[in-house]
Amino acid sequence: MTGQETSSPLILVLEDEPDIARIICSALSGYGFRSEHLRTGRELLARAHQTSPDLVIVDLGLPDMDGMQVVRELQDGSPCAVLILTGRNDLTDRVLGLELGADDYIVKPFEPRELVARVRSILRRYTRAAAPDAPGDAAPPERTVARFGNWQFDTGRHSLVHTDGSETSLSSAEAALLLTLVRRPNKILSREQLLGERDVDPFDRSIDVRISRLRRKLGDDPHSPKLIKTVYGAGYLFAAQVGWE
Ligand code: CA
Repeated sequence: MTGQETSSPLILVLEDEPDIARIICSALSGYGFRSEHLRTGRELLARAHQTSPDLVIVDLGLPDMDGMQVVRELQDGSPCAVLILTGRNDLTDRVLGLELGADDYIVKPFEPRELVARVRSILRRYTRAAAPDAPGDAAPPERTVARFGNWQFDTGRHSLVHTDGSETSLSSAEAALLLTLVRRPNKILSREQLLGERDVDPFDRSIDVRISRLRRKLGDDPHSPKLIKTVYGAGYLFAAQVGWE
């Protein structure tokens, strides 16, 4: 919580080139977002801890550390939505970024309007996952716990607690995906339903990457998953009885 108006999302922009940062921040503020610019990974991580931003835009090539490391540390310490911005047009980086919990990836040079469109799409996805009955309502998500198998999923804290007492934290993207799954157990959900978007690019692997991360965290065998089943050509199915409290 920032303690300021919740109607205006806060976006931290991690970028070491001042000209690019200026373009990004001015595009964001033109669309009503609050933004702050930080030049180094360490500054960004400290600021994210203080402000709990709604989204962080991370440049991969930084003076003090690799942007991927920043994404990793963010997900461990201050989970939030992440958009990776990079000059490296490399599929390996893209997949790695998504595996680390980033929500999307944009390659330089980019159109500021395209960047804003991606930011809005990510934030919409989270708003919908947090409050599907009241789209656009900025009220904080309720603390709710879903129980299934040996797990308790605290939807507000993005944490998974096993019956043996061990706790695993989820990135915002993973928590949003798990919330969609536990809300509709034992039903086949398409990639569009899981991403909360229409017309998902069939080559977009982001959902598969997130599913495999979730399976790993849930201790689900990727070769023979019991909880999150793959339904070939259709999507995924969450095979469990879910109780709520
Ligand atoms: Ca850079």
